[in-house]
Amino acid sequence: MSHFTDPSQRRRSKQHTCHSSPAAWLKCRHCGGEFSLNAPGTRHRNHCPWCLWSIHLDDKPGDRNSDCHGGMEPIAVSACPDGEWLIVHQCKTCFVVHINRIAGDDSERELLGLAVRPLKLSPFPI
Ligand SMILES: [Zn+2]
Ligand SMILES: [Zn+2]
Repeated sequence: MSHFTDPSQRRRSKQHTCHSSPAAWLKCRHCGGEFSLNAPGTRHRNHCPWCLWSIHLDDKPGDRNSDCHGGMEPIAVSACPDGEWLIVHQCKTCFVVHINRIAGDDSERELLGLAVRPLKLSPFPI
């Protein structure tokens, strides 16, 4: 009896863009960039990987229950103890704040820009 696990089964196969997956493409209302909802690293992509803006669609992540549909501005990033980053979004219409996991293809430049924004806009000399 061998109980080895085949490593190839655990490896996430790179997804090809093919017709079999119902790839939902969205056009960002903020920057006009196009992106797929099938993002690496998250099952609930709801923000643009280019400018990180989101749309207020969910009450809870992924439920698509909100009828606000306001633009959600990325206002900060937060880091988990395990090194995972989260984006803090605030709706410009109803001002609710949501926290979302970043996706693997989010713009690193935009993420870093968010991360250093409090330092650049410091209310006291650093
Ligand atoms: Zn965008
Ligand atoms: Zn809203």
